[in-house]
Amino acid sequence: MTEIWKVNRLYEGKAKVVFATEDQDLLLIHYKDSATAFDGKKKGVIEGKGVVNAEMSAVFFTLLRDAGVPNHFERLLNPGEMLVKRVKIVTFEVVVRNVVAGSLSNRLGLPEGTRLDSPVLEFYHKSDELGDPMINEYHIRALGLATMVELEEIARLAMKTNEVMRGFLNPRGIDLVDFKLEFGRYRGDIILGDEISPDTCRFWDTNSGERLDKDRFRRDLGGVEEAYREVLRRVAS
Ligand code: UDP
Repeated sequence: MTEIWKVNRLYEGKAKVVFATEDQDLLLIHYKDSATAFDGKKKGVIEGKGVVNAEMSAVFFTLLRDAGVPNHFERLLNPGEMLVKRVKIVTFEVVVRNVVAGSLSNRLGLPEGTRLDSPVLEFYHKSDELGDPMINEYHIRALGLATMVELEEIARLAMKTNEVMRGFLNPRGIDLVDFKLEFGRYRGDIILGDEISPDTCRFWDTNSGERLDKDRFRRDLGGVEEAYREVLRRVAS
């Protein structure tokens, strides 16, 4: 296999570093152990998170690709490092919810754990200064963030991702409560990007209801590293 060389650092975010490679079409993502919450107000380190998140994302991206959800994943390189297709990022985030938690619970005054009759799709404008405000399809169209065709494809792929992941996680004793996705444009198509990990999904143990995700860090519940490793153990088997 050809060696892929990092050529320069393009971007360093809260949880990852992105490098250009010798191949114009490919980027290398290095997943970091650092963690932030509440718009960067809470900072910390989750030991081993980078390696776990890269490996878990690889499992989900492979599963999704085989189920017909195109995505940027090419292959894992060194521990915590992943080679991906270079996409033009879509500038809004997509959240899918099956159960009420987090900001939805606060916004609607519903208790966390309330099951939704059908999945809910939400869009958030990516802006750190504004704290990622929620937007709807009309904003997306009016601001030219995506075309109607792209938006329909994003919604279809987000719902499909939900179905595929729920089907995979249920027998592994994990309830997929909600998750955040990011999309990109690649050679004229919409594909899934970013990562799929306990940083971006709420995973609850089906039997105990125990939280196996970043809420353990956000809410100081302890056992953060153990929870991340437990999810990886279940999804990798
Ligand atoms: N999420 C994320 N990045 C964000 C905001 C949310 O990955 O910037 C994920 C979060 O982990 C959860 C889902 O999206 O799985 C819904 O998050 P919510 O809107 O409830 O916000 P939160 O309570 O995390 O502030």
